[in-house]
Amino acid sequence: MTTVANPVQLGVPGVREYRSSSRVARPAVPVLVDSFGRIARDLRVSITEKCSLRCTYCMPVQGLPEIPRDRLLTAAEIVRLVRIAVERLGVREVRFTGGEPLMRHDLEDMIAGCAEAAPGVPLSMTTNAIGLERRARALATAGLSRVNVSLDSLDRAHFAELTRRDRLPSVLSGIAAASQAGLAPVKINAVLMQETLTGAADLLAWCLTNGCHLRFIEEMPLDADHAWTRDRMVDAAMLLTVLGERFDLAEVGREDPSAPAEEWTVDGGPATVGIIAAVTRKFCADCDRTRLTAEGTVRACLFSDSEIDLRVALRRGASDEEVAQLWREAMWNKTPGHGIGSDGFESPNRTMGAIGG
Ligand code: SAM
Ligand code: SF4
Repeated sequence: MTTVANPVQLGVPGVREYRSSSRVARPAVPVLVDSFGRIARDLRVSITEKCSLRCTYCMPVQGLPEIPRDRLLTAAEIVRLVRIAVERLGVREVRFTGGEPLMRHDLEDMIAGCAEAAPGVPLSMTTNAIGLERRARALATAGLSRVNVSLDSLDRAHFAELTRRDRLPSVLSGIAAASQAGLAPVKINAVLMQETLTGAADLLAWCLTNGCHLRFIEEMPLDADHAWTRDRMVDAAMLLTVLGERFDLAEVGREDPSAPAEEWTVDGGPATVGIIAAVTRKFCADCDRTRLTAEGTVRACLFSDSEIDLRVALRRGASDEEVAQLWREAMWNKTPGHGIGSDGFESPNRTMGAIGG
């Protein structure tokens, strides 16, 4: 695994100032560095566009258009790309996402292949947990390290309204099964809307009781229905006010600079609650993520539609190094950050479910 860690050593500018560095040449280093000096070590792999829920802040009511099956990466292709990322590009962590990863029946094989191809690299999954009850043990045996489960409300009616499906009991059974299978610590992701904000404190109390770590995520303009507005968004300040009415919170900050969640201790700790304030306290300057879509394109940023196609390269017989080189080029051109709230901002073409959160 590579030891290159410092942008200064790479001869590229520091990342704090968002100035154009297009005239700087990409250094010949075996990592995913961008022209602002950020190094991507955390790989998010979307493996499907299909989903068992229809969360209003993510999916359209009819679901995403189906990706023709011959354009979807196979499990073997995903395993190869994960191996290339780890062996040649310095990736240290892999997370499977979607759509809903549990919609793929070859998920266990994919995880087992990745565990063999990238020994020692943590493999996690972001999931809605529907169907996890039956598969948690097999996934853990295959090599999955832990799961992030999306759960926005413990109120069955609110949950059904928000996800357009009455599946709360299945999600709760999935979380319990994940804990029992050792896919721990289970992290709970919650995107709150104004309708569910009153349930924030109940969600935190439930997570504390059930040994889960809760992180609230600010809703981003990545919904298929294009209904997001800054005025209606529940932001970090609103959450802290609501949680503060029931819990004593003290800010502790980030575990490490590239962690998206800022942490607060709850009632003196040691338990904490996280807030991923991607809109109001953006952390693009420390972003260490690289993303693969289910069709096999590299996406450097959630908000940039510029993508480089690795699937086509794989299928025309490119070598591992040729694929790695394409990936490095895609990341070198990563934009400095999202422009939510700035003049002229436009939501990207792909929605969250089509990129992978
Ligand atoms: N289906 C899985 C799930 O829900 O966990 C994985 C895919 S989902 C797109 C990944 C994460 O993105 C989830 O935690 C979800 O809450 C989050 N997400 C979806 N739409 C979002 C949005 N518009 N803003 C912020 N987060 C969003
Ligand atoms: Fe499906 Fe996850 Fe999007 Fe909800 S957030 S619709 S569970 S992909």
